[in-house]
Amino acid sequence: MRLSIAARVLIACTTLMVLGLMLLVAGFAVNENVHTADQRIVLLSEALHAQDRQDRAQDQLRLDVGDTTRSAERGATIPDRRWATLVARARAFAALPVAFPAVQHRREIAAIMQTRRASRDFVANTVHVVTIARTRPDLIAKTMPRFVASLRRLEASRARTREALTLAVMEAADRNSRESRRRTVEVLFGGLVILAIIAAMSAWLRHRLVKPITVIAQRLRAFGAGRDDGAVPGVARRDELGDLARGLAEYRDAVESRRAAERRVDFLAHHDMLTGLANRLLFESRLSHELMRSARTGDTVAVVVVDLDRFKAINDRFGHAAGDRALKRAADLLSRCVRSDDLVARMGGDEFAIIQVARSQPAAAEALLARIYRAVDACDADDNATEPAIRLSAGVAFSEPGQPGDELYELADTALYRAKADGRHTARFFNKDLREQESLRLRLARDLEHAIASDQLYLVFQPIANAGTLAITGYEALLRWRHPTLGEIAPDTFVPIAESTGLIAPIGAWVIAHAIAAAAQWPEALSLAINLSPLQFRADGLADELRRAAAAHGVALSRLELEVTESATLLGYQRDEVLATLQAMQADGARVVMDDFGTGHSSLGNLKDFAFNKIKIDRSFVAAMGDHPPSASIVRAIIGLGKSLKLTIVAEGVETDAQLARLRRWGCDQVQGYLIGRPSCDIQATTMRARVGV
Ligand code: C2E
Ligand code: MG
Ligand code: MG
Repeated sequence: MRLSIAARVLIACTTLMVLGLMLLVAGFAVNENVHTADQRIVLLSEALHAQDRQDRAQDQLRLDVGDTTRSAERGATIPDRRWATLVARARAFAALPVAFPAVQHRREIAAIMQTRRASRDFVANTVHVVTIARTRPDLIAKTMPRFVASLRRLEASRARTREALTLAVMEAADRNSRESRRRTVEVLFGGLVILAIIAAMSAWLRHRLVKPITVIAQRLRAFGAGRDDGAVPGVARRDELGDLARGLAEYRDAVESRRAAERRVDFLAHHDMLTGLANRLLFESRLSHELMRSARTGDTVAVVVVDLDRFKAINDRFGHAAGDRALKRAADLLSRCVRSDDLVARMGGDEFAIIQVARSQPAAAEALLARIYRAVDACDADDNATEPAIRLSAGVAFSEPGQPGDELYELADTALYRAKADGRHTARFFNKDLREQESLRLRLARDLEHAIASDQLYLVFQPIANAGTLAITGYEALLRWRHPTLGEIAPDTFVPIAESTGLIAPIGAWVIAHAIAAAAQWPEALSLAINLSPLQFRADGLADELRRAAAAHGVALSRLELEVTESATLLGYQRDEVLATLQAMQADGARVVMDDFGTGHSSLGNLKDFAFNKIKIDRSFVAAMGDHPPSASIVRAIIGLGKSLKLTIVAEGVETDAQLARLRRWGCDQVQGYLIGRPSCDIQATTMRARVGV
């Protein structure tokens, strides 16, 4: 059975107390012994003094007896008084005390008893001889020897008594010193035992109590500071410390599980569930932290924004599960390419971002991009049999002193935008040119807000003609912006800005209203083609808006041609809305045109689902037709495809007779381009070679 600490301490303390008491008693005993021995020595000494007094009294008695007998022998009469005095003194001598209380040994007692007897004998002889000296002086000589003999006996026994007493004093002193020594040794030994017990107790307390408590306190402190140094020691003990250790272990487990839950919540709050990467929140806080740190260290922070090219197409073609897998593969790939102290985050959708802090930039960022694109190529070689290939565009920006994180991120995003515009699957660094473009973009975005109200927008119309007869079948409305200080801004520049700022909704509505108002003035046979941004389909009621505008100006919906690019049809998340709007308009008689065909995914699935009425071959193919045989083949193939699907084919960007001749030969239905007419405010002036007709 194991004892508790309290029991052990109690036992130790009790032992100490008992030992202390014993020591005290021993001390008292020593003291008592010494005292008793001292008393005996005092009594013995007193007995010796008594002997001395008796000696003196005896000597005096002897002398007086001698004087008395001599004077009696000389014939003098001994007076009665003298006789009585001598007898009284002799009797008083006999009554002198003998030191009985001090004596203990038989030897001493025997000596004293003998002395008493001798003393009584001497007194009797003294009285006898003194009486003889008074009454019969003649018998003195005869009596004297007896007196002398008793005196001698008394002296001899007194000498023996003195010797015995002296011996007793010596023995008592000797015994006393021996006893004292022995008791002192005992007391010292007892003290040593107590000291040993105290030392053992403190060692035990240190080893079994203080040290474990210190270790537990250290563990607690470390645990409090968030470090887990392992199990709490002493849980197996069956004493109070074991109780404490077990209590602490339970507390530690409870806190640890709470911490684990908090860590999990924290992880969920800061990480993306699909890829396990950091999320936007963590990215932003880490970025501002790194920017602050770099201001101290002099390092440069690079933000790399990475976007999966044509991710929506992956989603549409292969399904969302494949899209998720592509995101995971991209996340994995990026994580493998960065160093351990870089941060990869998924910012949302198919957009990732990396924070890279380095002393030597842009070298470090270039090396990172090289690793990423090498890894993408390697991934292609590995995976392309089962999974769609990953293509990445990246934009990079470097921090400047005092720059906030969101601004740095936007610069990287601008560079990404440029990379996408430059043909995708490539990376661009944000530089001076981009900075200028960006500031221009910001300025245009700001100015565009007032463009409608300030009458800076206007429409031009470009004719579309029958390829065979060149008779104009209609016009395409093209938007223009005359900036008060920057002059004419091309729609390729400002339409994307309008799209990114949300201004495309009011601008699109303005185009619809003004284009239809213009078409109301034209001969009814002429159609009106309106370009629709994919983002216009986000707002409900595009079909109603078109209907209202057409009704307001008395333009038949059958005169409308709605031009959408493939991107509009590929917006996976609102594909159904786009489809519904276009189908509603088709039901009302309008025609739907796929613009810039050949530049997007040219998905045949789109052609089927959207039931386009017309395909517009992108002008880049038409322009390249002459000296780039593949482009010519593409144009020819698209015309053939359109024919077989019974769609009208329009070729845009026709600038030369040669192009027109080939397009005619291949059976293209309609043509549009500078050869027919440039976009203009005045539709009559634009028509150079064509005539209005069907
Ligand atoms: P798009 O719809 O493909 O328009 C045809 C573009 O080709 C027009 O450029 C036109 O001026 C140009 N073009 C026509 N013939 C020729 C030619 O023979 N040679 C050359 N080199 N170019 C020719 P623009 O007007 O700069 O418009 C560019 C793009 O801006 C349009 O491409 C369209 O996507 C967009 N856009 C224009 N107006 C609007 C609009 O009102 N709304 C929307 N959402 N987008 C518009
Ligand atoms: Mg167009
Ligand atoms: Mg076009």
